[in-house]
Amino acid sequence: MNEYDSARLASILEFNGASPALMPEKADIILVNTCSVRAKAEENAITRIKNLKKLKIENKGLKIGVLGCMAKNRGESLLKDLPFLDFILPPDEYQKLPEILFQKDFAPQTPFAKLTNKYSAFIAIQSGCNMRCAYCIVPYVRGREQYREPSSILKEIEAATAEGVSEIVLLGQTVNGYRYKGLSFAELLKQVASIREVERIRFISPHPAHYTSELLDVLMSEQKIAPHVHLPAQSGSNSVLKKMKRQYTREAYLSIVESLRSFNPLYGITTDIICGYPSETEEEFEETLSLLQEARFDSAFMFAYSPREGTPSASEMELITEEEKKSRLQRVIDLQNSITLERAKLMLGRQERILLEKPSRRNSGEWVGKTGNFKKIILPAQPDFKEGMYVECVIEGVKGHTLRGKIAYICTSEHFMLNYRENS
Ligand code: SAH
Ligand code: SF4
Repeated sequence: MNEYDSARLASILEFNGASPALMPEKADIILVNTCSVRAKAEENAITRIKNLKKLKIENKGLKIGVLGCMAKNRGESLLKDLPFLDFILPPDEYQKLPEILFQKDFAPQTPFAKLTNKYSAFIAIQSGCNMRCAYCIVPYVRGREQYREPSSILKEIEAATAEGVSEIVLLGQTVNGYRYKGLSFAELLKQVASIREVERIRFISPHPAHYTSELLDVLMSEQKIAPHVHLPAQSGSNSVLKKMKRQYTREAYLSIVESLRSFNPLYGITTDIICGYPSETEEEFEETLSLLQEARFDSAFMFAYSPREGTPSASEMELITEEEKKSRLQRVIDLQNSITLERAKLMLGRQERILLEKPSRRNSGEWVGKTGNFKKIILPAQPDFKEGMYVECVIEGVKGHTLRGKIAYICTSEHFMLNYRENS
């Protein structure tokens, strides 16, 4: 979501005549987009911001602004703590940016987010969150849910595909809770799939409580929807899920996993896990380990619980020491690493359709791409490889958690060739 917001901000800046600086030392404006979801994210941002102070000595005209969730969460106190900052701007006030930086009113037409690559585009369809999970700061800094009008979503997608993008990633904190005047998320997915130039569709993050049978049917019948969901579980224990106010049980969660995997055993399912929730017992923690065993996630983002001021769980007594939290986190990571590897090995010998992303940074003779089920793959480079091209490849090996493949053949989708000819 933050990447998308940064791309939106970049397009507002360019719309007003700014262009990207090659390095911070050459910039007249530096905007730091921040995250508040865990204490560590805020600490990292503060360190980065403090490092910018010296640039003001060289360039007296330099303007530094802090945007994103920390601007909302810490508000004016940021300006007091870091007096060299010129301004702060929370997410719900980005329309003020041209006025602050260029003394201009916001343009009547809002530019779409700048594309950050030619293969995949993030498209926000929902902002805010109404869920109020007990540990989470997002609803406080991002406000109530708002849904974007379908016609504006489809226009942004068409603008992205006109630039050659063929993969669309719909974004929202509870993206599958999207609705607009009777239009459900499942119906929106069908509309996006009907755009000829869109070849692959993903969405993040769906909330387990919003998995309707209508949605499951569309996921299983619509060929363009990639066989991968990111489905944050947080915990495998019903008592912890209840305290977290997650609004689903372990059993309900596992039944979604079961539907997807019985449809396609290689369906990619990734998740988020929080370890060491206040008062989480060893038994409750072990239920998270057993959830991992049962669900067999393809990969996971795993976090130690971080109390966020103002959230209900922050006032709960933390009965777990930092060491214990870290040790639980390590146990989850170790288990998931072995499952991730096992899931990757299931791909060996298969022929898969790969979206080519970019040349590998480590080895100029290789390219990086993604399978439909969201696994990273490295392929030997070919002279005609281009960003956004699809290739069929045979998976020959697994190194770390990354697949290795060899090309079976290059798919020449009509849309890709059209854009390729126009751009070359
Ligand atoms: N809307 C998404 C998650 C957004 S936040 C959802 O509900 O699934 C991204 C992830 O950060 C969460 O899934 C959670 O695992 C983690 N997270 C959020 N608050 C946290 C906290 N206080 N401590 C540790 N991890 C947290
Ligand atoms: Fe936070 Fe829960 Fe909303 Fe996700 S659903 S953003 S975890 S409150």
